[in-house]
Amino acid sequence: MTSTDENDFGATTVVTGTAVVDGLAYGPVIRPGDRPDFDVAGAADVPEDQRDAEKERVDAASATVAGRLSDRASKSTGASAEVLAATSSLAKDRGWTRAAKKLIDGGTPAPAAVAGAIDQFADQFRQAGGLFAERVTDLYDVRDRVMSELLGLPEPGIPNPDVPSIVCADDLAPADTAGLDPAVVIALATRLGGPTSHTAIIARQLGIPCVVAVADLDRIATGVPAFVDGTRGVVGAEPDPEKIAGAVDDARRQAQAAADWRGPGRTADGHPVLILANVADGASARTAAEPGILEGVGLFRTELAFLDRPDEPSVEEQTTLYREVIDAFSGQKVVIRTLDAGSDKPLKFVTHPDEANPAMGVRGNRIALDHPEIREHQLDALQAAAQGAEAVPWVMAPMIATVDEAAEFAAMVRARGLVPGVMVEVPSAAVNASAILDQVDFVSIGTNDLTQYTMAADRMSPELAALTDPWQPAVLALIERVGAAGADQNKQVGVCGEAAADPNLACVLVGLGVTSLSAAPKAAPAVGLKLSTVTLDQCTQAAAAALAATSPAAARDAARAVLGG
Ligand code: PEP
Ligand code: MG
Repeated sequence: MTSTDENDFGATTVVTGTAVVDGLAYGPVIRPGDRPDFDVAGAADVPEDQRDAEKERVDAASATVAGRLSDRASKSTGASAEVLAATSSLAKDRGWTRAAKKLIDGGTPAPAAVAGAIDQFADQFRQAGGLFAERVTDLYDVRDRVMSELLGLPEPGIPNPDVPSIVCADDLAPADTAGLDPAVVIALATRLGGPTSHTAIIARQLGIPCVVAVADLDRIATGVPAFVDGTRGVVGAEPDPEKIAGAVDDARRQAQAAADWRGPGRTADGHPVLILANVADGASARTAAEPGILEGVGLFRTELAFLDRPDEPSVEEQTTLYREVIDAFSGQKVVIRTLDAGSDKPLKFVTHPDEANPAMGVRGNRIALDHPEIREHQLDALQAAAQGAEAVPWVMAPMIATVDEAAEFAAMVRARGLVPGVMVEVPSAAVNASAILDQVDFVSIGTNDLTQYTMAADRMSPELAALTDPWQPAVLALIERVGAAGADQNKQVGVCGEAAADPNLACVLVGLGVTSLSAAPKAAPAVGLKLSTVTLDQCTQAAAAALAATSPAAARDAARAVLGG
């Protein structure tokens, strides 16, 4: 498509995808280095007397790649360090190296054996679905790094540009994005990936504009000057330099204004909306609290602290962890979620049967069916952590589908002197919001799963990114129902899914009756700033306009027309 739209800054080529991180950036396009090209089928067999040496080459290459990645991990911090360390472990994983050596025993040369072994594992990961399927990109990244090492080629990945540049790629492996410097990589656009994909999460952490699921991204040539508009989901090549420069300046001013925003969260006419942080452990909670802007924690995903644990952590260990988060926001609101194990976040100590459809299986609060003691222990630890704290923590259960589940959970939480709530992630909970709110003191809407289940579309699937868009009017209609139930009973209705990180959508949510917004701490100031520029009446009007739309794109446009920006 050649754009005639004034908004597309006179670009010669414009392609569109799913907008995931707001902002506008302009610079030359770079692409990750070529992946190794090896004629797997055409390679000659390895003679028998050389096969042991060939196997040693695989061990050496996997150790070199793992070593390089762990070296980068030791020089990084936070999520980047974790991603690099995890990819390093995968690079030396005995499972695939053993499979590769088996192929070498049959005469396959090392590079082809690595490709073959990793393909087998990738198939298994894909079939397992959820978090495993998400690691397929990591597996292929490891394959390419190890093959390059075996073939004496430079390590693949994002080149280090001399000037601030835009990265366009099919998809980005975690090890590619970990440690990226947002001063030189100023935007990301990928052909694959969805709103909750790894690329989107990293872009949000780095605070750089990002568009994913851009089907025609190959039409944007490497080396040309281009822009990424992460607010509207547009990538354009060769825009008019003057027009784009003015727009980038405006976007920069807006980003600076967001960085200067100081809260508390409220609309221009003073309607209060708590702006909260999503955290994963004590360290991330302290980082979120440090600037003194956010008003508490809206979602502490406790399962993330235990993903690698073979055994259930003791009550004492759990108590210490929970107390760290409570103390980081001492005296403020802290919402702690009980373990959301299963599906995309399997925990080794929570075993459950093989399931054909884990997203709809024994996950979240349902793990108490087989393991009631795990939930009891966690609630005991939360009770102990709350002893002597400045404020009583709020405790909520994930994946609640029925009123009875909410009632059972609320009784257990109240018996421990804590404030009970549940997540609204299953459409049945939204439909029955009023009866569920009769049982609990608050609800928090998990828009990631609510969208997945409402649209019957796997949140991890790049092909289904257009369906797993929280602007889907059907999802907004369910949120409206929950907001109305909360207003009726004067109880808090939060949102803690990725939807709360989108400034315009956040205003729509407020218009639908949402009382608190919890997001990645980096995303929160832009949300607070946007809210401070619009009235509650505008939020209500934007919500009505989005609800009346028949597609996510139309909902976005309708809301923007009311909210500006
Ligand atoms: C959600 O589903 O929106 C949510 C916040 O939970 P998670 O992303 O951890 O599944
Ligand atoms: Mg969820």
